[in-house]
Amino acid sequence: PARTRVAPSPTGDPHVGTAYMALFDKAWAVRTGGQFVLRIEDTDRNRLVPGSEQQIVDSLNWLGLTPDESPEQGGPYAPYTQSQRLDTYRPVVDKLLASGHAYHCWCSQERLAAMREEKAAKKQDTRYDRLCYGMTKEERAKLPGFTETPVVRMYIPDDAPLVFHDLIRGEVKAPFPDDQVILKADGFPTYHLAVVVDDHEMKINTVVRGEEWISSTPKHLLLYKWLGWELPAFAHMPLLRNTDHSKISKRKNPAARLMWFKEQGYLPQALRNFLQLLAYPPAEGDQELESFADFVGNFAWSKVNTVGPVFDTKKLDWLNGQYIRELSDSDLADQLVDFIAASRQWGDDPDPSWAEVIRRATPIIKPRLVKLSDAWDQIAFLVEADDSVYIEDTARAQLKDNAGEVLDATAKVLATVEPFTADAIQQALRDELVDAMGIKPRQAFAPLRVATSGRKVSPPLFESCEILGRASVLARIAGLRE
Ligand code: ATP
Ligand code: GLU
Repeated sequence: PARTRVAPSPTGDPHVGTAYMALFDKAWAVRTGGQFVLRIEDTDRNRLVPGSEQQIVDSLNWLGLTPDESPEQGGPYAPYTQSQRLDTYRPVVDKLLASGHAYHCWCSQERLAAMREEKAAKKQDTRYDRLCYGMTKEERAKLPGFTETPVVRMYIPDDAPLVFHDLIRGEVKAPFPDDQVILKADGFPTYHLAVVVDDHEMKINTVVRGEEWISSTPKHLLLYKWLGWELPAFAHMPLLRNTDHSKISKRKNPAARLMWFKEQGYLPQALRNFLQLLAYPPAEGDQELESFADFVGNFAWSKVNTVGPVFDTKKLDWLNGQYIRELSDSDLADQLVDFIAASRQWGDDPDPSWAEVIRRATPIIKPRLVKLSDAWDQIAFLVEADDSVYIEDTARAQLKDNAGEVLDATAKVLATVEPFTADAIQQALRDELVDAMGIKPRQAFAPLRVATSGRKVSPPLFESCEILGRASVLARIAGLRE
């Protein structure tokens, strides 16, 4: 059984890449009957953003990628937050110092920057020049560019292993590393030490992460070797790309933020299905609509494309529409009420009559909905409290010369039709307007649509009238006649 983990840093809005990795972690854990762990990597104290960890937890839960062990849920290897595990790292650093695989470095930031600049000017590699290696503090203090509190660095040997096996890529060769800092002056480990120690301690046997970590893997291989620990399997996932093939990043693309999808009214099952398709397109004849269970059933590392998949939200829109139509009317209505209440900031206790209107309108907008966020624009006219409808120019242009006459006739019919239901309204208007006046249905119904919705295009007209009710429809017709 696999033990996998996703290990995000709480440095801002969660990245869609985190969900992408988590999807594979979870799929592999489920497929092998193992566990999927969430670990929070918060050792970079300068980049912490309050609330970020909670957002990570919430978005994984929202997507149905709930971990088996996490800071929230606990588990056999708790704590799952690196800042609470400093006692675990310190003895490992001491061991590496004692065995000569690591050394103290007192170089100031200024000295390091100057050294790198000088080496770069001479076209030399800019790795650390090991000035501090083998020195005592007293010896080093006599030289320039000294700081009081040292960091600890790895001593990378000339024969450091650079080649490793990757589940997706096969044999991978990474560049020769620098003498990596593993313990910072603030007493916190760097990512490289903490990730190896924790993956070992938490018995993680499959490390799934973005391909940008390939170049770091040789450092990790060395740490495993020095500490005598068994290596995990590695799967380096291709990075998600924009349509121009640049790497998708939160600074450039709103869709890099996981919360964005929720804000836009995508359903979690659609986003998850979309991420599944990015890994490898379905074989010919296979369904694009794929449950997580099917994804797990068909899963194989060898299928994953190494070319960064293009993140094209058009496909996501299509999927979202499909999943919306799979929902029951009442389920969709619940989601729309919650979504609209949150996005319109109606608070926890919105006017119940609004919720009722949204519920009644749900079946008529369902066939055309792409995202939950599209709903409000389509049904706002049904919820408007007073009947003064704003008439759009394109709608007004629909009104033909006889529109006034048609509207008056419409009002007369609607004043008495019983019951005031979509079917009865439609029947009455057909009999008494289309047939009796001898006009085309379009000509007969367009003015009513404009009067009630102010739009050229609106959800089905007779259903909308039923939802509005007789008094409101008549008031709107009168409003347009003024
Ligand atoms: P920024 O937009 O601020 O440059 P970023 O978008 O590069 O940030 P990071 O904060 O550096 O995101 O990374 C957060 C997590 O998301 C990391 O685990 C990283 O592997 C993953 N990640 C970043 N970019 C991508 C991507 N294009 N595809 C998949 N995963 C990514
Ligand atoms: N904390 C790292 C990140 O945010 C984890 C990388 C890894 O999975 O090893 O990307």
